[in-house]
This record gives sequence, C-alpha cells and structure tokens, in this order.
Amino acid sequence: MEHVLDLLAFEPAGGSGPQWYGPCPLHEATSKRSRSFSVNVTLGRYYCHRCHSHGNPLELWAAANKLPLHRAAIDLCQRLGREVPWIQRG
Ligand SMILES: [Zn+2]
Repeated sequence: MEHVLDLLAFEPAGGSGPQWYGPCPLHEATSKRSRSFSVNVTLGRYYCHRCHSHGNPLELWAAANKLPLHRAAIDLCQRLGREVPWIQRG
C-alpha cells in the first residue's frame, strides 16, 4: 500500500500509526489538507468519505489511473520492478 501511495504522490495530512488521512487522489480534493481519504497501510485498505471509493492498493491504483484491474496489476508490477505474479516463466 505504501508503494501505491508513493506513486500517487499522496501526502498524509494526519493520522497515527498505520492509519493515515489526507486528500483523496481519486477525486479533486478541495484542499491539500483534506482528510476525506483514509488509508490503513497495515491492512492495505483505503476509503474515501467524499467519493466513497474503497478497496485494496490494486483497486486504488486502478481507480486512480482509470485502468481495468488486470491492466492495473501489470502496470503496477512493472513500476515497482516486480514480476507479475501470474505470468509463468520458463
Ligand atoms: Zn475521493
């Protein structure tokens, strides 16, 4: 989850421990100090109180980039320099 937030240039406006709050990367947040978007980096879940988007890091990446989940997974793995888990290599 931290990697996805890094890629989205998310800047937490507050929070404690694994629970962060900040401006939502999915809708046009009114202010950089917005706390409508909450994310738990330990659980790997996010929720936006404004646009009601929620899910796991992959779903966040897909929503932020308007990609289908499958395409988002490949894109994300490439950006993080990881192999896409389901591709079998000889
Ligand atoms: Zn939102």
